[in-house]
Amino acid sequence: MKSLAIVGGAGRMGQSLAARLGAQDDLSVTALVDVHEPRELFGARYVEALSDLDATGIDVVIEFSSAASVVTSANWCAEHGVALVIGTTGLNDEQRHQVEAASAKTAIIMASNFSIGVVLQERFAKLAAPYFERVEIIELHHDHKADAPSGTSLSTAAAIAQSRADAGQPALVDPTTHHVLAGARGADAGDGIMVHSVRLPGLVSHQEVIFGGPGEGLTIRHDSFDRQSFVHGVALAVRAIDNTPGLMIGIDSLIA
Ligand code: NAD
Repeated sequence: MKSLAIVGGAGRMGQSLAARLGAQDDLSVTALVDVHEPRELFGARYVEALSDLDATGIDVVIEFSSAASVVTSANWCAEHGVALVIGTTGLNDEQRHQVEAASAKTAIIMASNFSIGVVLQERFAKLAAPYFERVEIIELHHDHKADAPSGTSLSTAAAIAQSRADAGQPALVDPTTHHVLAGARGADAGDGIMVHSVRLPGLVSHQEVIFGGPGEGLTIRHDSFDRQSFVHGVALAVRAIDNTPGLMIGIDSLIA
């Protein structure tokens, strides 16, 4: 039985994970860590900070809170040799470096999206990338999301750029010469791959990768309708982390 502490345990993801991971035979959610008191405890204990916990009772910390909190969690896990699964997005370069440094002392799996469908969308996009002249990404999320563009869209854009580069394709150049409104063409996520962010109430997490070539188009769309779409991937990471020392980015290699 693996004992879990969820940082961000009062949040939307934290509550969804606590309910669903705790229901699995080999996992037990021992603590919900949050600056706010959780609406439901699901049999776990509530603490305000990881430092309020006895590390010997925790096998894996799961992080779905804020970018600033990720560094605190990584340092606590490194200090106590507790494995860490990070789903929080929007980290800056310095925060990423701190996570990398912590991974020298404990196993860390960090993924911008734990949905299996998103992992497959990225694989399919990499496969298609060399065969189309242009590609753009539209990511759509609920209106409480703090960061834009989404970590998933950046990861997808990087994967497509790598696939195009491996195939000898040049970086994309935006054909637009007259910008009537600044920002109308989205943001360049690298190599000219434009990302467009939509934020609306009612949405959860959605992404379209749109390819265009001579006389044809290909759209690969993924929808997370509910936060339970992330649970399977988090459970895979929690179960695999004992065998993945250091820092693993993304869960692609955990999906056969
Ligand atoms: P949310 O706002 O509903 O919940 C975040 C929770 O973290 C809140 O309860 C807040 O009080 C808590 N928190 C903030 N700072 C804290 C700190 N320093 N210490 C302890 N608790 C703290 O947000 P959410 O929708 O649950 O998303 C949380 C994060 O997870 C975001 O970064 C989001 O982008 C990311 N996310 C990732 C995936 C993925 O698959 N990787 C999926 C969904 C969401």
